[in-house]
Amino acid sequence: MKVHPFINAEEIDRLNTTLAKKISSDYQNILAEKESLLVVITLKGALLFGADLIRKLTVPIHVDFVRLASYGAGIKSSGEVRFLKDIESSPEGKHILVLDEIIDSGRTWDFLRKRLGAANPKSLKICALLSKPSRREIEVTIDYLGREVEDKFLVGYGLDFNEDYRNLKEISYLE
Ligand code: 5GP
Ligand code: MG
Repeated sequence: MKVHPFINAEEIDRLNTTLAKKISSDYQNILAEKESLLVVITLKGALLFGADLIRKLTVPIHVDFVRLASYGAGIKSSGEVRFLKDIESSPEGKHILVLDEIIDSGRTWDFLRKRLGAANPKSLKICALLSKPSRREIEVTIDYLGREVEDKFLVGYGLDFNEDYRNLKEISYLE
């Protein structure tokens, strides 16, 4: 398999800047005084996206993490979401924004939306850097989206192939 450059670091930064501006301006009106937005980063894939995006937010935030796995080894989703780590703070009464680097089948966000939503947050939204609409199996609404991509297996900027490539600054596809 060959690695083909797809989205360079400058474009990723532009997408993050646009997302962060919109999120900051929305939550500036939503958050009460002294209230923080709880940003939930989905490990491991959204590690880099999360680290970059939160540095661009201008509203007060707290950070927490969940870890899910749907791919396992290889380039095909197992079709089953394994929930490996929960957030450590209580979702109740919080404004929550989940960060995922890519929405594919929609299963991960559908799972988190139900799980976190059941714990009475004040609000619950999703921000994804990328989306592959042609792969959707569960209809989900993406509140903040960087851009759509075609159905390619992506690596880099947090995305892995058997744990390789996560630290690459740009996003490539394998073929
Ligand atoms: P979903 O549950 O929506 O099918 O998939 C969400 C997760 O699957 C993403 O957060 C990501 O971790 C993984 N995923 C989806 N598409 C790709 C891809 O093209 N490459 C890699 N490495 N992971 C992907
Ligand atoms: Mg992910």
